[in-house]
Amino acid sequence: MHIQNKKRFYLMMGLLGFIIILLGFSIYMIWTAISARNVPIAPTSNTATVDSTQGNRTDTVTSQAIADPTDILVLVNKTTSLDQDYLPPDLVSVDLPGVRETQLRKEAATALEDLFDAAALKNLTLYCCSGYRSYQSQDQLYAENVNAYGQKEADLVSAKPGQSEHQTGLAMDVTAESVNFDLLESFGQTPEGQFIKNNAHLYGYIIRYPEDQTAITGYAYEPWHLRYVGKDVAAEIFKNSLTFEAYLTQVQ
Ligand SMILES: [Zn+2]
Repeated sequence: MHIQNKKRFYLMMGLLGFIIILLGFSIYMIWTAISARNVPIAPTSNTATVDSTQGNRTDTVTSQAIADPTDILVLVNKTTSLDQDYLPPDLVSVDLPGVRETQLRKEAATALEDLFDAAALKNLTLYCCSGYRSYQSQDQLYAENVNAYGQKEADLVSAKPGQSEHQTGLAMDVTAESVNFDLLESFGQTPEGQFIKNNAHLYGYIIRYPEDQTAITGYAYEPWHLRYVGKDVAAEIFKNSLTFEAYLTQVQ
């Protein structure tokens, strides 16, 4: 090779090498940037992280998460209300024995099926009474209760529209033949009521309005009203005999 051509050859090779290195470095930088964007934020104490593929909560709750009506741990009570037009995003018909056709959010419906199956293994038949209720139907129900019992009494047993857990699609009233498919305090003493009391948490449900907790929950004892909160939180609430309000205050 001529000396001049040789020089040019080495220059070209050097330039090519430089371009390859530059290209490799750029690809590395782009890849790093993309990976960093996909890294989930590490859960710290009192921080909620939700696995977007499963929708499963992996840690406790923040007040910000509670503000989200679609959050499994949404708090709805006499001081926190849902919007008039809030509709749960993933309502499904509950495929279980019931006194009427009713709906729940998908995750809650699946968990309820597991609970009813577990009860059936003990020869207990549970029945769904009311799951999801719209703002408008709650409005009507509340008005009926006020008419029948007066405001004060109605407020103990019935929620104002926007303040009913049934609008979340995460609550179900359950009943049994032993109480004539009604919603009665005595349900708590029946084998079905006892089964629920002792096992609902294993399937992610809590008795939302426990006995003697009216000062905290705002409602009379309702052994029939189940609220889905997920297995971890339900286990914690069951183990420590907490109300949902008390649990949320603890983790905030
Ligand atoms: Zn209820």
